[in-house]
Amino acid sequence: MTNIVELAGVAKEYGGGVAALRGVDLVIEAGELAAIVGPSGSGKSTLLHMIGTLDRPTRGSVRVAGHEVAGLSDRALSALRARHIGFVFQQFHLAAGVSALDNVADGLLYTGAGLRERRERAGAALGRVGLGHRTGHRPHELSGGEQQRVAVARAVVGEPGLLLADEPTGNLDSAAGAGVLALLEELNRAGTTVAIITHDLDVAAAAPRRVRVLDGLIVADERAEAGGR
Ligand code: ADP
Repeated sequence: MTNIVELAGVAKEYGGGVAALRGVDLVIEAGELAAIVGPSGSGKSTLLHMIGTLDRPTRGSVRVAGHEVAGLSDRALSALRARHIGFVFQQFHLAAGVSALDNVADGLLYTGAGLRERRERAGAALGRVGLGHRTGHRPHELSGGEQQRVAVARAVVGEPGLLLADEPTGNLDSAAGAGVLALLEELNRAGTTVAIITHDLDVAAAAPRRVRVLDGLIVADERAEAGGR
């Protein structure tokens, strides 16, 4: 198994002496589905920012897809992110007034592919998330669950190896949340490595691996034999 994520001794301090992470070691192998759980303020989002190379650590080493983040320029880091990592957030972050198809197609802008190819691939990604019949709808014409599916389609349209989700069910009712979770599990079964930050006990319980964060440290890392599926 290759390691898609390797964090060693990662600390992150913000101004004013806030130590959000205080020395974290974490390996995520290709093909895993891991839930990152912990109370508010424990450092989960900061950890996701480190894994996602959205920010650099104060100390320690972050390797993603074999690349040491410290050795990369900001530009090279953006390219690494674009090629290897898809992001889904609690707030869906879709462009208002833009069709689902073009919201997803925008996820391929970095590839330099033409509009026609981007739209073709976006249509296929929307089909994959069960929204092949909603490609022309704009965000306000979609339910919350559907909007989050569009966001997932945008995150995976470039076929990244790693999908990072920050409270992806946080703004959804339980039925829509369960649907989005099932979708993330399906993408994982198809080969995408998935890490989900969550407060949602159902999401955590369904994950084959649970990484528990408290006060900037990983305090437990459990793998369920049966994966809870
Ligand atoms: P969680 O996601 O578990 O709620 P965070 O990673 O967001 O935790 O925050 C961990 C700690 O770092 C908290 O004490 C928070 O207030 C602080 N923190 C997070 N982001 C910043 C920032 N940009 N500037 C200063 N402090 C921050």
